[in-house]
Amino acid sequence: MTDYIPIASLNHYAYCHHRCWLMFCASEFIDNQYTIEGTTLHERVHTNSEENRGETYQIRAIWLKSERYRLIGKSDLIEKIDGQLYPIEYKRGKKGQWDNDELQVCAQAFCLEEMTGQSINTGYIYYAHSHQRQEVPISESLRQQTIMTINAIQTMMTTGKMPQANYTKRCKGCSLYTYCLPQAVKKVKTYREES
Ligand code: SF4
Repeated sequence: MTDYIPIASLNHYAYCHHRCWLMFCASEFIDNQYTIEGTTLHERVHTNSEENRGETYQIRAIWLKSERYRLIGKSDLIEKIDGQLYPIEYKRGKKGQWDNDELQVCAQAFCLEEMTGQSINTGYIYYAHSHQRQEVPISESLRQQTIMTINAIQTMMTTGKMPQANYTKRCKGCSLYTYCLPQAVKKVKTYREES
């Protein structure tokens, strides 16, 4: 049986398989402006607390776990309105081009469903830069995509097999760029193959 995988690893895997491998299989991590801002935001959010705001009950920084999917991670915020629970993930910046944040919300919904027995149909992503909440419907297609990602990460972690680094537009914002150097690696590989 695979060990628990961090909920956050889904986000990194969807961003870049190689980045996820570097972080969670090779334990490599380098900060950049974006990751420092993200860590600072989560340090603020991850102060365990609970409070009522009008009709909304809020609880922060509780641990979520799923035996079924072998997931574990800390929530940023869970809200309860009229008895219904909603997971809310905090992100720096504004909504990006990638859907990786939604996988993380869905994984939190899986944990909450298992822990409470309640169906979770909606979650949210709060973008700190734009102060906006984006609704995330926990649809069947998002559930399937999340399960596929969990399975792929579990396989990667069990086998330790390294996904190849491929240079894409995402590399520009990646804190591991100087460690990974995907363009240089590709050039060396091409040179070796041609010589
Ligand atoms: S630099 Fe690019 S290929 Fe390398 S880990 Fe980052 S996103 Fe992935």
